[in-house]
Amino acid sequence: MSADKFFDHTELLRCPVCGTAFSRSGASLICANGHTFDPSKKGYVHFAPNAAPSHYDRTLFEARRRILEAGFYDDVVDAIRRAMPNDPGVVLDAGCGDGTFTKRLQGETTVGIDLSKDAIQLAARGGGPILWAVGDLTRLPVADKSVDVVLNLFSPAHYAEFIRVLKPDGALIKLVPQEGYLREIRALMGSRLQNASYSNEAVVSHLSEKLSVADRARITYTRPLTTGQAGDFLRMTPLTFGAETGALDASALSEITIDVELLIAKQK
Ligand SMILES: [Zn+2]
Repeated sequence: MSADKFFDHTELLRCPVCGTAFSRSGASLICANGHTFDPSKKGYVHFAPNAAPSHYDRTLFEARRRILEAGFYDDVVDAIRRAMPNDPGVVLDAGCGDGTFTKRLQGETTVGIDLSKDAIQLAARGGGPILWAVGDLTRLPVADKSVDVVLNLFSPAHYAEFIRVLKPDGALIKLVPQEGYLREIRALMGSRLQNASYSNEAVVSHLSEKLSVADRARITYTRPLTTGQAGDFLRMTPLTFGAETGALDASALSEITIDVELLIAKQK
């Protein structure tokens, strides 16, 4: 049963409403205060039933998945893997999206959390051992000091929660876009662009207040792409850039630049 994996790992989870531990009650997870959550047969738990609908939609995640499967982010995934400890015990992907990265960065036990139900349903399709959860990064349904590696890839952070769930010797691995990231799309958008540049130093400075940055690595490369892939890049980025991309001409994009920084941080 695809729901059983959750009952096998109740010690890793905690109630997102009140923070107490879960135990099993029939087909439900139940906390000490009686809050219940039912793992779906589709292989995920919905921990945020009152969440506002996500701005992300299935079209975006499917485009993103095709791009990831075409290998555009393989060098990034390899760099993350190298930054992780060998044989990590518990990995939490906080803001995992459709889970394509998560599946390639698994530990002995892996939890993938995203607020988008569409994304988590896509992630859980096809089964497998990863514990997928629709959940809020500001109220992680994850036990204190239980995680070896928190991954936070192209996603907003909530450091207080990351610090709470990390083991004392655990690590946060955060991926942040740099100024050259998808620069061809930004050039195409011109004046329609609302967020003209990234402020990476603000991200690093905020992170440094909460955790100590142990290492930083920049990964930059440019790859050719087909018109179909260009269209997928446009579909997967509208929110990144805060503007409509529907009117853009995908055939004008012949290459794409990936420019990211990997930040590895430890508990202070
Ligand atoms: Zn509770």
